Amino acid sequence: MTCNSYFEVREGKATATFIGRSVIRDYLCYVLGNGIQMNVSDSVEDDSNTDFYIVDDITEDNHIEKSSDDRIIMLSDFIDVLNDVHIPNDRPVALWGGGIELDKQIGTIMKYCSPKVIIDQSKEGEYLGIPFVRKEQIDIGDFFIIVTTTKYAGEISSFLVKSGRKEGEDFILGANPAFLNNNAQLFRRAITAEPLKRVACRRPFTYLNVGVSGLLTHCCYEWLPIFVGNVLNNSENAYDTITSRIIRVSFMNQSYAFCNTVCCPFMSNTRDMLCLEDKNVVDDELYMHDQNIVDVDVAFDNTCNLFCESCRDKYIIDNSDGNIQIAEKISESLLPKVHRLTVAGNGEVFLSKAYARIFDKTYPNTVLTILSNGNIFTEDKWKMIDGKFKDIILMFSVDAATKETYEKVRRGGRWENVMRGLSLASKLKKEGKVSKFIIRFVVSNRNYIEMPDFVKLGSKLGCDIVDFSRIENWGTFSESEFEEVSMFNGDEPKEEMKKVLSLPEMRNEIVHYTNIVAGNT
Ligand code: SF4
Repeated sequence: MTCNSYFEVREGKATATFIGRSVIRDYLCYVLGNGIQMNVSDSVEDDSNTDFYIVDDITEDNHIEKSSDDRIIMLSDFIDVLNDVHIPNDRPVALWGGGIELDKQIGTIMKYCSPKVIIDQSKEGEYLGIPFVRKEQIDIGDFFIIVTTTKYAGEISSFLVKSGRKEGEDFILGANPAFLNNNAQLFRRAITAEPLKRVACRRPFTYLNVGVSGLLTHCCYEWLPIFVGNVLNNSENAYDTITSRIIRVSFMNQSYAFCNTVCCPFMSNTRDMLCLEDKNVVDDELYMHDQNIVDVDVAFDNTCNLFCESCRDKYIIDNSDGNIQIAEKISESLLPKVHRLTVAGNGEVFLSKAYARIFDKTYPNTVLTILSNGNIFTEDKWKMIDGKFKDIILMFSVDAATKETYEKVRRGGRWENVMRGLSLASKLKKEGKVSKFIIRFVVSNRNYIEMPDFVKLGSKLGCDIVDFSRIENWGTFSESEFEEVSMFNGDEPKEEMKKVLSLPEMRNEIVHYTNIVAGNT
């Protein structure tokens, strides 16, 4: 029995009967999609309508001997069909791209095939014994191609599609996580992990984050560290991949096998009130059918006019074509359907040429949340988004209440500029042109003393919310530096911090705490 036989079942070219009524069969059918034909029976019968029998376990009850019928596939083997790689064996394989991405992908690629050439327009010689060639030196039609560059992936796949090649059949993107993830391994983990308490989170069913290089995640990567797809993947289900569905299975069976139980507040104890253990409000059937991506965070362009110390140590400007391609792709195929769009978590929204491309279109059903540092928010920038969304929420990260502190913590920013941006936002709020105006403050030892004045500033500007969160270590601080910078020991505020949290200004109704427990101060 070859792996190709399994793919025939998956592609609907063959019919399978599952022996036994295991819930795993339901999960498999769900993950493989509606097209799959998988019947259920108690035993292997002489049924000419069945090409394969999938057996969970050989028991005395089902009287099966594996060797008795070559149509029998063991479930543990069949699960390999979830690996989203089907490299045809009728053609040699060529890799396209000889840069650093190839280093990352070559280990996985070698597990599936032995590439014959690497197409690269500038490299000479060979890599791990595989010769470099120019694209003009070979007939691309003779090869199955794995695109091993992220930077030029969009360009190369457009070229291949224009030349009549089909993604999946004639080429795949090596950076497509469906290829790099071992889906079979993920599925085994999802179905064998112990169930936990039920949590209220439904993110894998409704939410996508579009990150750097077009990589997609169902939560922030630190909390749920699995890439589920890539925007630049041309397949029809780029936003509903097998990997996405496997993650959803881990929610259906309440194992949450891939979520970070320490970092995620839903999983750790910081949001116990959201545990739904005794409330029957999460229904598996509902889960199965309600999986529309309605909530999208866009954060693929790191370009920023600031270099804040908690984020980066130098200015980053990225005007690559890849970012423009990602913007065009999601504007066409993802964003028109979403209800909530947030731009942009990892750079300055009004500096990015790619994000400007997103705002070329109108999204009448979408509420836009802008995350900005406010330094270049002017009437011209407002015109880029005005009237193009159902509603607009403005959120500015400020982190200080004085010029001196601001220019220290928001490196590269100018207090006068951010105040000009905030005044404009305040005016737009008063005129009813934005539905919410929020200012944010990441608390550290550099600025915590200014928290009460920041609340006063928010009040004066007419903000709906003044949000405080504690600084996180994204790898820019050593452990000892972070201990000094943070005003918390674990979840517990340090003594000086407790004093600030207990001041009357901090009880203003516009104050909101994101990951700070301020209740007992
Ligand atoms: S890590 Fe937490 S917030 Fe993210 S998907 Fe899992 S439960 Fe939800």
